[in-house]
Order: sequence, then structure tokens, then C-alpha cells
Amino acid sequence: MLKFHNTLTNQLEEFQPLNDNEVRLYICGPTVWSFAHIGNFRTFTFGDVLRRYLKFKGYKLTHVFNLTDVDDRIINEAKAAAKTIDEFTAPFIEAFWEDFDALGLERPDIAPRATHHIAEMIQIIEKLLENGHAYESDGSIYFRISAFPDYGKLSKINFAGNISGASGRVDTDKYDKENANDFALWKLVDADEPTGWDASFGRGRPGWHIECSAMAMKYLGETFDIHAGGIDLKFPHHENEIAQSEGATENQFAKVWLHSEHLKVEGETMSKSLGNFYTFRDLIAKGYSATAIRYLLLSVPYHKQLNFTFETLDGAEQTIARLRDFRNRLQEAHLPDGINTDLQEKAEKYLNDFEAAMDDNLNTSVALAALHNLVREVNTATAHEVACTEDRSFILHTLDKFDAILGIFGEASEEILDSEIEALIGERQEARRNRNFARSDEIRNLLGEQGIILEDTKDGMRWKRK
Ligand SMILES: [Zn+2]
Repeated sequence: MLKFHNTLTNQLEEFQPLNDNEVRLYICGPTVWSFAHIGNFRTFTFGDVLRRYLKFKGYKLTHVFNLTDVDDRIINEAKAAAKTIDEFTAPFIEAFWEDFDALGLERPDIAPRATHHIAEMIQIIEKLLENGHAYESDGSIYFRISAFPDYGKLSKINFAGNISGASGRVDTDKYDKENANDFALWKLVDADEPTGWDASFGRGRPGWHIECSAMAMKYLGETFDIHAGGIDLKFPHHENEIAQSEGATENQFAKVWLHSEHLKVEGETMSKSLGNFYTFRDLIAKGYSATAIRYLLLSVPYHKQLNFTFETLDGAEQTIARLRDFRNRLQEAHLPDGINTDLQEKAEKYLNDFEAAMDDNLNTSVALAALHNLVREVNTATAHEVACTEDRSFILHTLDKFDAILGIFGEASEEILDSEIEALIGERQEARRNRNFARSDEIRNLLGEQGIILEDTKDGMRWKRK
């Protein structure tokens, strides 16, 4: 029985889709103004596990994951680079999907872009103006929080008193508002501003929150099953999504809200000023593999804070290598003929443990422990020559079931061939002789990404697979 901790009710609840066997899922995607960092990818990896597990449970899934391709930062950065916002965001969108694929994240069914859904946003704002949930001030349109008594039901912040001191992301709008926490649905733009859209209530651009409401409801309907995202979005982003969506439709927006906790780096909040800010690409350039990064991100349940350290990432590299080695050896091992039903029963038990852990609000760390228990059991059985030929396919099939969610074993064929490694090492030696250290480092990193370790010995260059 699948249970989720629903932020909205603050309870562990049995999951029941609104419609039979169908699940409609919305996850807030990235703002495409720079390369996504590992904190972002923690959330997106959680989203991937959620997606994969819902499918594993047999649900028919519609998964929407948006790209925010217009906001103040994008507009300002594009202007500074003398580009249109499309020109500015295009390379970041491309890079984002490259990173997404490299991490083994399954693509969503629909990945709408905010700038392609302005008409839908305008419709919602018109409705909110009509029914008194929104008002115009100095050419911009604001949501009137005092007209929505449920405001705060997600974040559990009490807005009855002085609401300007509320925690969370501070709204930095400098426009006039009736109330400090009223938020912009539509921002007036100057006549000479190239980024702007015409609406019945004036030319402007959308506020960030309305983008998600419009895209979620267009593809999933007014009420849908699950809305997920990072904990930093709970307030005000998600609170505002609820207010403007429910203010417009008078129907419940999302039934279940799931939030992934913060990622810290070496125990500290990740920030550029602390020098501990890493994009996914930074880690790949350091020679780490995407699969080890994925493993590390999975190793802590999504609702607990994750402390990212390079020591644990090194450990993840070793774990992945050990798991892949286990599978390869099992595939090739010379096993005695026959069947060991006891071993198969144990494999089944570990798969049940895995599913029970995932059912329990996606507890990936307990789920991974079940995988490691299976590996230990099979290793012992193989060492004692009691794992038999007929057990092999059963165990490999069980591993595939684990990996349908975990996505860490990878395809054996993805491995770089020995001859390719030798050729790259030769090229690297040549680059070093020519004092082209940039190319030499690049090749070392490339090999590192494939799990190849280079060692300079007195007999020349040696290499081994991690
Ligand atoms: Zn959103």
C-alpha cells in the first residue's frame, strides 16, 4: 500500500488516485537561466524516482514538468547579453536536458515552457479580476490574499496577523500593493521593453507563480493528483499556486503535495560565496560519474536533508562499481546445474522489502539496503557453490526490477572498450609530450567519467576500471 507524506495535510496518507488507475503529476522544473546545480537535481532525481515508482505500481501516469523561461533574472541577463530571451535560454535548455539524460532521469510526458502558455495565464488572471481575487495597481495585477481565507494552508504560516514578516522567499516587487504579501500575477512593462505580451488588462509579463498554475491546469485539469517540488518552493511559490488556481476555479488544485528537502554541501548551505556551489557539470568535470551522483542523491530519503560530501561521492563510485561487477560476474559465472529454491525465495523477500520501503513514502535508503542484502546473499551462495544455473536468470530479473526504479546498473554495452581506452591514453601521452595539458586533463576527466583510473608507474602508464 503506497503511502505519501502529504505536505498539505501534514500526514502520512494512503495514496488513492482521483481517477481509477490514472495518476496526474506536476513537478516544478528549472528556471533556465544558468546550469542546474546539484540541489536542483536532488529534487529532479526525487521526481524521477516518484515517476518510476508510480509506473512500477501499475499506474498510468501523465507527468508534466515545466520550464520557466521568463522571469526577472532571464529578462535582465538576456538584456545584458543583447539577446532575446529565447536566444538567451536556448543553450541552457539544451544543457539542462543533456544533464537530465546523463543522470538517467526519464523525460516527462509533457515539458511545457512558460512563454508558450501566456494565453492560458491571461485567462486565469481575467477570471481572478472578475471575481475579486485580483486587482490592478499602477498597471500591474496582484492577487488579493485577503479574499482567499485558505491562504497559508500549505505552508502552515498564520497570515491572520502581521503577514509581512512571513518567512520564505521574500517578494521583492517594488510595486504598490494593498497588502505586503499580495503577489504579482502580471507585471507592467515599459513601452520600450522588448519582452512583453498584450492582455485585456494591459501589456506586461507574467509573475512566476501563475506560470505553473496555467501549465498544470492546462494539461492535468483543475484538480489533479500530485504536485511536487523542492521544499524552497513551498512558500511562497506553491502557496501562491494554490491561491490563484483555487481562487479562479473554486476547486481543489492538487490533492497531494510532496516536497524534497534541502541539499547541503559538506554540512553547509550551498552558495557561490562559500565556494561550495556545484552544478552537475562541475562534478562531471571533476571526473565523477553521473551514476554515482545519482546514487548519492538517492541514498537519502527525499524528505530528509541530504549532506553532500565528496567522501560520500567517492563511496558511491565504489558502490556502483561493486554492484555492476556483481551483475557482470553473475552473468558469466560457471554455476552448478539445478535450482536453489531457498535462494530464490530470499531474493523475492528482498524485493518485497524493497517495495515495502518504497511504499513507505519512498524510503530509498531502506530500499537500497534491500538491494545490498540481496547482493550479499547471492555472493555468499555463489562462494559456497549453491547458486545454480536456474537461479541466475531469476536473480538477474529481480535486479532488473530494483533497477527499474534505481536506474544505477546501466547498460553493459555502455562501457568503454579496452581499445578505446588505449587509444585515449596514447593521445593523452602525446598531448603531455606537447605540453598540451588542457587536452591531457580533458582526456583524464573523460576516462574518469567512464570509471577508468590512470596510474603513472615506473613501467609507464597503467589503467584500471573502478
Ligand atoms: Zn512551479
